[in-house]
Amino acid sequence: MRILILEDNLTLANGLKSALEQAGYAVDLLHDGQQGANLLKFQVYDLLLLDLGLPSIDGIDLLRQLRRANNALPVLIISARDQLDHRIEGLDVGADDYICKPFELDEVVARTRALLRRSTQKAEPVIQHGRLEFATVNRQLTVDGNDIELHRRELSVLEYILTHPGRVISKEQIAEHISSFDDDINPVAIETYISRLRKKLGEDLNLKTVRGLGYLLELNND
Ligand code: CA
Repeated sequence: MRILILEDNLTLANGLKSALEQAGYAVDLLHDGQQGANLLKFQVYDLLLLDLGLPSIDGIDLLRQLRRANNALPVLIISARDQLDHRIEGLDVGADDYICKPFELDEVVARTRALLRRSTQKAEPVIQHGRLEFATVNRQLTVDGNDIELHRRELSVLEYILTHPGRVISKEQIAEHISSFDDDINPVAIETYISRLRKKLGEDLNLKTVRGLGYLLELNND
């Protein structure tokens, strides 16, 4: 899952970035509203952490533009504007959640997880697929209750696959959602991660290859 942070306080922005990376997300960071608006026109994200007081475009205006363009990206506002009318305005303009500064990083990470759960229509924090169970909170995978250790990137690929069952997903799409500016992952490498996942998980990962298109995780009927 890939997150964009738009925050002009460098110390706070870097703290957020490392907390979210620690939690397993791919994170990009920009400090300027206009740069963020431009980037959001072509780069796909799973969530936006949006400060309101930003250079060149205010966060509220950026959010308004985003929603006018029919972009449904989940947005969590992080702002020092803590008055009730500001919070109401933020939510009414189209934010999904609002957290006032100062906050604890752990709470931002937990709210991020909650918003991503909602946007992927996975109400439960543990994703089940046959005998596989992926706990999104601590990113632990188990098969029949036994812990399976996976490389960080294998886990990111698997998480993307598990949150998109019943749909064909391409390797480019997976790469885009687990890459960041600092850690750009080539779609060809996705094939390697998938073959390792298949080797480690065997039949528990009933992932079909759809020739020329990508991969399809069969829906779980149990
Ligand atoms: Ca600011």
